[in-house]
Amino acid sequence: MSGLILIVEDETDLLESLAYSLQREGYQTRKATTGKAAIELARQEPVPDLVLLDLMLPDLSGIEVCRQLRSDDRTRKMLVLMLTARGEEIDRVVGFEVGADDYVVKPFSVRELALRIRALLRRGRTEEQEQEQEQVVFGRLKIDAGAHKVFVDAEEVMLTALEFRLLTTFLSRKGRAQTREALLDTVWGIQADITTRTVDTHVKRLREKIGAAGSYIETLRGVGYRFKSRPDEDAS
Ligand code: CA
Repeated sequence: MSGLILIVEDETDLLESLAYSLQREGYQTRKATTGKAAIELARQEPVPDLVLLDLMLPDLSGIEVCRQLRSDDRTRKMLVLMLTARGEEIDRVVGFEVGADDYVVKPFSVRELALRIRALLRRGRTEEQEQEQEQVVFGRLKIDAGAHKVFVDAEEVMLTALEFRLLTTFLSRKGRAQTREALLDTVWGIQADITTRTVDTHVKRLREKIGAAGSYIETLRGVGYRFKSRPDEDAS
């Protein structure tokens, strides 16, 4: 398997041994020991395919690094595999409040890590191919990205450009919790003073417009929203 992996770890022994092991697996690597260096290296072309991100770093936390990666167009889609110690905020990381794609708990075996990395990269590549397809079908919903058209049960639904972007954003992150802040950031493209209520208003309108497909968008109390991972997934 090939790919460029950014390793972010302040324990230099671990950093070096990870880099060595991953190179032996055929990956190219970049190394950072601080959060700030990580963000800089993540933005350098070619951007890494995946970031191995230690949660506890001397400057920024892994959580903050992850947030910054997700809020920048250049690094938004980067896969993030979090390295945590037992008991360290795993709920938040795994709850995808933070937006990590997966995590491993230290101490881990190189073999386990390599398997997780391979699975993530494979998944990432499949999703990319799916997104390149013009038409996406999800249950009763069909989206023609090229023509900017949305159909529910073969009936065309008229959406505003913003609602269209909201829907495609949800779909591109299906199965993952989305905070209102993250949606604001991606869909509205500003981190400014529009309140998170704006998100609620637009989600409500979008749900109404897509009718029968509206139930694919779940509300997560205290978190935000989540687009189902499969159309037939039971409500959680
Ligand atoms: Ca650390």
